[in-house]
Amino acid sequence: MPSPKSPRSLLPALLRAAARARKRAYAPYSGFQVGAAVLADGRVYAAGNVENSAYPLSICAERNAVAMAIAAGARRIDAAAIVGGAKRPAAPCGGCRQVLAEFSAPDTPLVYATPHGHSVTTTVGALLPSSFGPGDLMEAAAESTGRKTGPPGMARSAARVRGTRSSGRRG
Ligand SMILES: [Zn+2]
Repeated sequence: MPSPKSPRSLLPALLRAAARARKRAYAPYSGFQVGAAVLADGRVYAAGNVENSAYPLSICAERNAVAMAIAAGARRIDAAAIVGGAKRPAAPCGGCRQVLAEFSAPDTPLVYATPHGHSVTTTVGALLPSSFGPGDLMEAAAESTGRKTGPPGMARSAARVRGTRSSGRRG
């Protein structure tokens, strides 16, 4: 469902949604509250980080927001915003970069900001260059089984990955 506005123009609205979600974050152990919002199918999905007394089970805000979008039926993230950090805006961790890349294009806009408004605007591809993605699995499956198709949405990602690789580390 196309949005009348470009995803990049919606980054300020996404930041506001992320800031609201940050206030609902469950971070009693670290005290490090983060909010994230993603745009998918013209809708905004926002969540905070959710910690657990068994520390490794804690989940970042970005992954919670992506999971909400996917659970609602979306398969593509068109923009993302994260609010967290103190003097320096908290960039997404490596794991969340991988999860965002699964459902985004390299040029998908992303902004991360402090609660006080100091922000960095970038793209998913800039945060995770030469990434492993669905296309890698699809190519491997096609080689080993002759299967030509993967899960929904994979074909698009595969073409994207091949394009990136041909001008990337294989070049
Ligand atoms: Zn993370």
